[in-house]
Amino acid sequence: MAKKNIVIIGAGFSGVYATKKLAKHFKSNPDVSITLIDKHSYFTYLTELHEVAAERVPENAIQYDLQRLFFNQKNVHLITDTITTIDYKKRIIAGKNGQYPYDYVVLGIGSEPNDFGTPGVKEYGFTLGSWEQAIKLKNHIRKAVLNGSIEQDPEKRASLLSIAVVGSGFTGTETIGEICDWKNSLAHEYKIDPSEIKLSLIEMAPTIMNMMDRKDADKAENYMIKKGINIMKNTGVIGVHDGYIDLKNGNSFKTSTLIWTAGVKANSITSKLGLELSRSGRIAVNETMESKSQDNIFVVGDVSLYDADGSGKGEPQIVQGAEASAQTAVTNIIAKCNSKPMVPYKANYQGFMVSLGSTYGVAFILNKFHLSGFFAIAMKHIVNLMYCIQIFSGYYLIQYMLHEFFRTKNNRNLMFGHISRSGNVLWTVPLRVFLGISLIGINFANISSILKILLTICGTFLIVGLFTCTTGFITFILGIILCSNGYANTIGWIIPTSLACMNGSGRSFGLDKWIVPYIQKKLGKMRYGNVKSIYKSNHN
Ligand SMILES: Cc1cc2nc3c(=O)[nH]c(=O)nc-3n(C[C@H](O)[C@H](O)[C@H](O)COP(=O)(O)OP(=O)(O)OC[C@H]3O[C@@H](n4cnc5c(N)ncnc54)[C@H](O)[C@@H]3O)c2cc1C
Repeated sequence: MAKKNIVIIGAGFSGVYATKKLAKHFKSNPDVSITLIDKHSYFTYLTELHEVAAERVPENAIQYDLQRLFFNQKNVHLITDTITTIDYKKRIIAGKNGQYPYDYVVLGIGSEPNDFGTPGVKEYGFTLGSWEQAIKLKNHIRKAVLNGSIEQDPEKRASLLSIAVVGSGFTGTETIGEICDWKNSLAHEYKIDPSEIKLSLIEMAPTIMNMMDRKDADKAENYMIKKGINIMKNTGVIGVHDGYIDLKNGNSFKTSTLIWTAGVKANSITSKLGLELSRSGRIAVNETMESKSQDNIFVVGDVSLYDADGSGKGEPQIVQGAEASAQTAVTNIIAKCNSKPMVPYKANYQGFMVSLGSTYGVAFILNKFHLSGFFAIAMKHIVNLMYCIQIFSGYYLIQYMLHEFFRTKNNRNLMFGHISRSGNVLWTVPLRVFLGISLIGINFANISSILKILLTICGTFLIVGLFTCTTGFITFILGIILCSNGYANTIGWIIPTSLACMNGSGRSFGLDKWIVPYIQKKLGKMRYGNVKSIYKSNHN
């Protein structure tokens, strides 16, 4: 086979999937070069944007560094650049910082919010289509609540403390649900009554969450009503201003935070690429995911439109669709490289999941099972964890668990904060020190000198708070050994106590506070190399 350059543009759900699959297939083929270009040095876990916007997880929790994702795929070259045009004759992709030759392209540059030209959305409204927009929204909400909390004019105060979301699709409902979860701690922080923060979900249709099964949507609606969210159906928004919005029915509505989630359109760069376009600027593709107007340009994910049923609507712009289209493109690029026939797109939708904050959600999975509450949220976490497994990232699997379960604040996780270590580390410090002193003091006549030495080491480590988790575990084992040697009555308490001290209590008044992060940093660097903000091409 002649040398081939496969270039994937966009490291989103479809691009990362395609790159992983192509890298695996061509692993031992030096004739195939695979390049992944994105305007960022990281993949954004878009489906969790609302968690960043409403401060459930830290800002970087949804940024997955490409270096970490692809450090094992030595045949993948990472490039940080924003693609602007493609020369189809010369087969060159042009970016702001360089030019990249190609034989095959996988184009997965995603979508962006669509305000349908509604006046004022750009100037006074907020959208949720990127990491930057999520941060902007979060900062704005904090500022609005702070200003509202000290505003004495009742009209202005009501407007500052009113948050409205337009559109009840995935993004809209998950966002209002997440802000509702945040409301109490936000109110507490700015010393106001939580009931002063008014949340509204505005929908033009007579029903909300119309992408879901009606039964699930009704459950979600009842939950939102119970939580005090004002649901405004049959309500169109026709203008956004500083502090209020105009409704189609002639009324106005006070809010300083209007979050527009009422639609998406293709990435606006598509209009400059010279490819045949379809509805909402999406690129028209045939059943092999190849552009209808250019050979060897495969278009995947939100930006592509495959009109399978002839309705012009295309496949849903969701993660399952992004991955299924990426799979089709990968299969067909491999087929083309081997001069084999291409295969058509096969949809494989397994249901939907919507979270309304950290503890409640609704889901319809495998097109069979309806779940709600804890089980729906647990299922969403399982799907997200499975995604990390699918992209072979143990690092982000652990990070996900830390961010979503163990490092959450204000009880915002599926176990209502019980498994979060943020609040409970400090209170086990006295227990840890007491256990340490007791271990050193154990002096039974017939225990071996090795056991005695181990007890002294563990005791010392616990007192100074060094490697507390591991030491707690070793102490637990030593406790079992001592109990099975007939000391259960005297020191049986060591077993539960040592387990309690495995909660990382050394991070509070202990050496683990400095040593554990230091080791994590060193090990991370050894394993993954330097994670950079920009990856440059060797060609330029
Ligand atoms: C808030 C929110 C919640 C959502 N919730 C769900 C959900 O619960 N379930 C679900 O299935 N779907 C959900 N979606 C939709 C889902 O995120 C998308 O369908 C999916 O991300 C599409 O994947 P993609 O690869 O096409 O694009 P994206 O994941 O958007 O990736 C596009 C990539 O292209 C890069 N890029 C863009 N332009 C350029 C350029 N010019 N040059 C170089 N790189 C470029 C971007 O940086 C990005 O990395 C949600 C979306 C949002 C915004």
